Amino acid sequence: IPEYAFIGRSNVGKSSLINMLTQRKSLAKTSGRPGKTQLINHFKINDEWFLVDLPGYGYARVSKSAKKVFQKFITEYFRKRTQLVCGFVLVDIRHEPQKVDLEFMQWLGENQIPFCIVFTKADKLRPSQIDKHVNAYREKLLEDVWEEMPQHFVTSSSKAIGREELLDFIGQINQDLKNS
Ligand code: GDP
Repeated sequence: IPEYAFIGRSNVGKSSLINMLTQRKSLAKTSGRPGKTQLINHFKINDEWFLVDLPGYGYARVSKSAKKVFQKFITEYFRKRTQLVCGFVLVDIRHEPQKVDLEFMQWLGENQIPFCIVFTKADKLRPSQIDKHVNAYREKLLEDVWEEMPQHFVTSSSKAIGREELLDFIGQINQDLKNS
């Protein structure tokens, strides 16, 4: 079963987004490996794909050693997952491009891990500001190592924006995988 992982800084709106995506979907939470840590949660959606809820990164208030543990966890997940189709990196649309997010995206790229960007909390900006903030990201990424802006989605969990786009995107890939 194909897997799609959701990740971002703490407080970015990941839990809200996952709730939005899984509403009205047939959902089964599956505990990964029994006895192991609960840091990573798997949700089986419609018997078709796994939504993988990864721990937040870039906590401001945790110790360096705790950060290392999280990092190790996340990198090990990405290195080992053969079923992973795409990572969704969540970023708060209100903020300037953040170093920790850019570095994480760069790391994904270096490791040939496909990812999309999910902008969260779009309801907090006016439409004209939304484009401006997305463009700021585009410029930053192109200035770094990227040749093009990765596939991206603008979402709001409180206004249910972007839900269908994200689910259609995932559904389309699953369909293509089935047919191939
Ligand atoms: P997580 O730590 O990444 O799982 O973030 P949460 O989903 O717990 O959200 C963090 C905070 O942001 C909470 O206070 C949410 O109510 C708020 N939040 C999350 N998504 C949205 C959104 O789409 N719009 C608005 N206005 N607030 C949001």
